[in-house]
Amino acid sequence: MPFVGFNTILRTLRIRLALWIIVVVLLMVGLTMLVVRQVVHRTLLFEFDQILRADSQEIALMIRQINEPAEKALNRHAMGHVHQQWFAEIYDTNGVRMWGTESTPEELPEPDFTPGQPEFVDSDSYRMLLTYLPRAGFWLRLGSSKQSLVEDVALLNRIMILATILIALVAPLGAYALAGRATRPLAWIIATTARLQPQKLDERLPLRGTNDELDQLSSTINGMLDRIASYIERHRDFIANAAHELRSPLAAIRSMVEVALNRPRSAEEYQGLLTDVIVEAGRLSNLVDRLLLLAEGDAGRHASRGGIVGLDRLVLESVEMFQAVAESRDIELRADHVEPVSVRGDEFHLRQVIRNLIDNAIKFNNRPGSVRVKTWGDQDTKRAYLEVSDTGPGIPSEALPRIFERFYRADKSRIREEGPGGYGLGLSICQLIVQSFDGEIRVRSGEGKGSTFTVELPLALPNRPALASNAAVV
Ligand code: ADP
Repeated sequence: MPFVGFNTILRTLRIRLALWIIVVVLLMVGLTMLVVRQVVHRTLLFEFDQILRADSQEIALMIRQINEPAEKALNRHAMGHVHQQWFAEIYDTNGVRMWGTESTPEELPEPDFTPGQPEFVDSDSYRMLLTYLPRAGFWLRLGSSKQSLVEDVALLNRIMILATILIALVAPLGAYALAGRATRPLAWIIATTARLQPQKLDERLPLRGTNDELDQLSSTINGMLDRIASYIERHRDFIANAAHELRSPLAAIRSMVEVALNRPRSAEEYQGLLTDVIVEAGRLSNLVDRLLLLAEGDAGRHASRGGIVGLDRLVLESVEMFQAVAESRDIELRADHVEPVSVRGDEFHLRQVIRNLIDNAIKFNNRPGSVRVKTWGDQDTKRAYLEVSDTGPGIPSEALPRIFERFYRADKSRIREEGPGGYGLGLSICQLIVQSFDGEIRVRSGEGKGSTFTVELPLALPNRPALASNAAVV
């Protein structure tokens, strides 16, 4: 079990980030130390060689032949640099050793006079320069102990190892603190998100104003929360409204049944009451059908049921169907300009859209009044249009943005007597259907100027010949 906990800790972003920082820091430090050591070693060696070379040049100027004063001068120089164990030797052109300072060590290797050999040669403890002095006509071998060089490099090594150990000790702490700082906003995001409940979605993640990736993540989550909150809000309203609307016909049915049962009645009375019950039950079933349709639409289910439908045919059919109702209300209903257009969708739902718009245009109209229905297609934009306009009182500008909302009714005074519908669901159903077929529904209206609803859908086929004349269907 402790291993599970350890594994979980290892998998946290903070620890992984800290581990990465440690690895990178240690690699960088190691690499830097190596480079520094190499550079310092080379520099020290270069300086060492420069000194030997300067000595050889000095000696070349000083002596033309090996005689006593020269020997003394060289021995003096060797005495002066005894701590560096400096020495000099002279060889003739045949490679025979002619002379050497008293400080010359004994265990030195024989010099190699073959041409092309490196000037500087190392023995275990000495570094030596072998050079030919042309003016004097002999070879000079100069050398000095490498001990100081080795000691300097060893000291450098020790310092670097110490520094690496120190960094290796401090790096995890620093990396952990840095990783903690970098992941702190994430911890806030997790804590706040964990507190959110579907019933309480008013809390939002704090923004630090840095506009970095974490700020962007917070604002994306906030945006998503806004959308979820408004979705839940709309659903709550929808359910509350639906319950409210369902209650009225149910209450009416209940009271009618109670009236029928509270005392014996004549057959005519029972018939009248039962007819009213049927009317209310019809209203109820109509409302339930609409609610089901909206629920299906919300679940994205009816969009797939699409074929090619002649919009003009559905319009002519619906106009004919509404003639009697329109006449009874002193309204002139005309299919004014019906071009043959085909759209992608299903007949049942498209018919519902057309009927709903015509029904509204008749319901919310003046008496006398008129309703005009048009269809046409635009081959350039590949869009089909359906327009239903009326000469009614129009929609008040404050109500206009809300008429596609569920259960919204701009004019609540004329609801019940208008037949099926009247729940403020018709236009939201129209919008849902039209949008599910990749279309759009718009309205133009002004108080006292009538209303025009336009449905725009993708054109399915090029225009067909007309199904019926464009003349008025009255
Ligand atoms: P309802 O079921 O009440 O007809 P709708 O969703 O179809 O609901 O319409 C919503 C509201 O929009 C209506 O209550 C009405 O106030 C307004 N409305 C719709 N169509 C028209 C129209 N042609 N003229 C004026 N107002 C309209």
